[in-house]
Amino acid sequence: MEGLKLVLSGPSGSGKGTIVQELLKDDNFKLSISATTRNKREGEIHGVHYFYKTKIEFEEMIKNNELIEYAHFCDNYYGTPKAFINEVVKEGFDIILEIEVQGALQVKRRYPDAIFIFIMAPTFEELKERLISRNTELPEVVEKRLERAREELLLFKEYDYIVINDSLKDAIEQIRYITKSEKLKSKHYKEHIQSMLEN
Ligand code: ADP
Ligand code: 5GP
Repeated sequence: MEGLKLVLSGPSGSGKGTIVQELLKDDNFKLSISATTRNKREGEIHGVHYFYKTKIEFEEMIKNNELIEYAHFCDNYYGTPKAFINEVVKEGFDIILEIEVQGALQVKRRYPDAIFIFIMAPTFEELKERLISRNTELPEVVEKRLERAREELLLFKEYDYIVINDSLKDAIEQIRYITKSEKLKSKHYKEHIQSMLEN
């Protein structure tokens, strides 16, 4: 069976990155590594967390049609490279696209069979608290991201599932359940049934 395409979105600070790092400890998941023009945070590695690009390099990727989707988020470009996804899914891995909502909507048009999961902090206060205590952005960038969070929350209906990341452990479990249930859908069993009938 081909792997699933899981699109994970949610406001900055809701815990997407933390959840993804835990999920990647499972053998079935692989992460789509995005390109971005934002600065590298301490501890981040080129080719592991992102492919870090200049604005000119990123615009070159757009021009050469190298991205499945891209978006402008709080003054930087972010995009999903085409290479990798199809290959990985064919090998049977479940690929995670951790992307913001505008990009997710583009993926939805291109891959209607992808699964869309929206991750939220339990309250706006908690979201703010997490973003501030992560201490990776300047206060004005934190403000921008919180403003953007309000717009993103309004698009929750575009997603198939909502996961509230209150307990990290529960949130991760829920995404594992979603993945397992999605794989049990009858549409994945056409070939299996066909081969049973042929014998
Ligand atoms: P995102 O990738 O969505 O921007 P992060 O994964 O960087 O968010 O998480 C934001 C901050 O919140 C980090 O400091 C992280 O350690 C913390 N965090 C993530 N999940 C939880 C949780 N369930 N409870 C408390 N803090 C959390
Ligand atoms: P951060 O700067 O915190 O790593 O990411 C900021 C936002 O960009 C997050 O919402 C993250 O999900 C999103 N993002 C990361 N990669 C991509 C991508 O390839 N495409 C799009 N559209 N958004 C992305």
